[in-house]
Amino acid sequence: MSHGERQEFLHGTSDLRVAPDPTFRSSAFDPSAGRGVPTWLAATLNYCSRCGGALRLEPLPSEDRERLACNACGHIAYVNPRLVVTTLPVTADGDVMLLRRGTEPGRGLWAQPGGFMEIDETVHDGAVRETLEETGLVVEPGEIVGLYTRPEAAIVVIAFVAEIIGGAPTATAEALEVRPFAPDAIPWPEIAFRTTEWALRDWIRRVRPDLDPLDR
Ligand SMILES: [Zn+2]
Repeated sequence: MSHGERQEFLHGTSDLRVAPDPTFRSSAFDPSAGRGVPTWLAATLNYCSRCGGALRLEPLPSEDRERLACNACGHIAYVNPRLVVTTLPVTADGDVMLLRRGTEPGRGLWAQPGGFMEIDETVHDGAVRETLEETGLVVEPGEIVGLYTRPEAAIVVIAFVAEIIGGAPTATAEALEVRPFAPDAIPWPEIAFRTTEWALRDWIRRVRPDLDPLDR
């Protein structure tokens, strides 16, 4: 996991199955209305990045919703989600490789490799890079298993199923352990993030529809 993703998960901890985010229903964020900036993110958006003036949330003639704008120079600070690229690396035997997290949040729990897409790479390249960094596996991303929105963390998570074409499972500071799990042996109570659970369920529906992971 990159530094950026780690920071993101620290702020957007509602993804953690074991620790719901207390700020999720804060007044600054109204998911039911489909708008609003999460509290933790709004706290980082006080000043204009162009001139240093104060940002104000206000209606603007050119916009269809309130925006953070600078009265001094007119700059609008758009707030958009970032993309987290992840893979489900699948072995020749049809098992999925997961990593046991070496850092908080979710230390000791299982997740798929992934992290923030960098500004100068493709989705495909980001997925390959993050998977190699975190697991030691060289993968070839294939079909998209799922695309998951987490507005409370201001992220969109894309999960590719990926063929393992090289490397070897390697423990790192970020991964205490990297090992395969059969579709019918996923350690569900020890999965770190909801997005991991969602991706695994969608993958299992494809490869083993008889398992019905929602009915466990
Ligand atoms: Zn400004």
